Amino acid sequence: MAKGYNQNQERVQLLGLLGKPLARRAGRRCELCETSGELRPFEIPPEPAEPDLDQLLLLCQTCAEQIRDPRKIQPERWRCLETAIWSTQPATQVVAVRLLRRLVPLTPWAGEVLEMIDLDPEIENWASKQN
Ligand SMILES: [Zn+2]
Repeated sequence: MAKGYNQNQERVQLLGLLGKPLARRAGRRCELCETSGELRPFEIPPEPAEPDLDQLLLLCQTCAEQIRDPRKIQPERWRCLETAIWSTQPATQVVAVRLLRRLVPLTPWAGEVLEMIDLDPEIENWASKQN
């Protein structure tokens, strides 16, 4: 038990160190919906052994909450993905693709957005790793 706790503490510390470069990259806005306000780092699953800036997103609470709990998804709120999917930031693209795929059964526009984009094979690979 103690080991797990220490590992978790270490992870929290490492995430803390990445907080600044992450906020700079994101321009202090949510990297999916672009709102400012209370933002937190979100580790894109599957989580790497050590927190990695390239596999983190800075997200607002609403985005993070709906990603973690798909029952809370409000499809119309995710129109922001129409823009996010074109991001040059692989992490943003990957999470946008995953969310859009989740939205396909819920709303007609999600599939249309996915049809418009030619995903880089690397992004496709990463996006299908886990959901
Ligand atoms: Zn957001």
